[in-house]
Amino acid sequence: MGRIPGVTAAETRERLLRAAADVFARRGYDGTRVADIAAAAGVSNGALYAHFASKAELLVAALRAHGRRLLADLLAADPDRSVTDLLLVVGRWLPRRRDPDGHLIVEALVAARRDEEVARPMRDYVGERADWLATLVRAAQHGGELDPALSPDALAHFCLLLAMGSALVTPDLHAVGDEEWAALLTRVVTALAPPDTHPATEESTAVNVQIDSGRCQGHGRCYTLAPGLFAEDDEGYGQVAGDGAVPPGEERAARLAASNCPERAIDLDTDLDEEA
Ligand code: SF4
Repeated sequence: MGRIPGVTAAETRERLLRAAADVFARRGYDGTRVADIAAAAGVSNGALYAHFASKAELLVAALRAHGRRLLADLLAADPDRSVTDLLLVVGRWLPRRRDPDGHLIVEALVAARRDEEVARPMRDYVGERADWLATLVRAAQHGGELDPALSPDALAHFCLLLAMGSALVTPDLHAVGDEEWAALLTRVVTALAPPDTHPATEESTAVNVQIDSGRCQGHGRCYTLAPGLFAEDDEGYGQVAGDGAVPPGEERAARLAASNCPERAIDLDTDLDEEA
């Protein structure tokens, strides 16, 4: 099998990466021969080696090209979406992941444990993912979404552990209730927000929220971020749960929801605002 007429070098490389992602995910790193990937891509072993020096290099290149990157995909689709919202959306999906491309990261992580030839490029790959996440965290800190006192590297590492762990602990091994998981995630993400700029005092604890229904477009971030304070109406628009009085301890969630509403539809009234 030689070079395929009419197929460019870039197309051949992409065929090899797609075939490698599929074959590694199906058979595992140890169970895959380079010849299997070449055959699946419809090229010769020689053509494969013209693009990739080794099976290990091909594995990590396939992961870079076809590994699941939900956070990056969501951000690319909606660059204005808040990082807090992205973390919640991705976090909710993680315990349900069943995507075959998720198998690829598992194969790569397991192979890296056993084989230094895989471990070397995997360190680079994981380092790149961590750097990308840390940059995202810094941007969110700069924008006032996340507490600037948090270490971007530590938070990036935490996100990586969750993402990669979810590829290993799949729902068929252990499942968690959607609502319980969402409540926990909301609590965690709320705790990552900057400290309240108006700390509660004896005189200024009353906080109230309202939604301007004329502005609300039903993005749903309010009831995702603060389900105790906001709810979804029959058409998906946000509505205040109860009378709008924010219970003690929920002020941070209220501020998080208000700052994440893309329509600026949430009014937050505090005694401090009234005094100002
Ligand atoms: S209030 Fe804002 S965040 Fe909530 S549903 Fe309406 S537009 Fe979306």
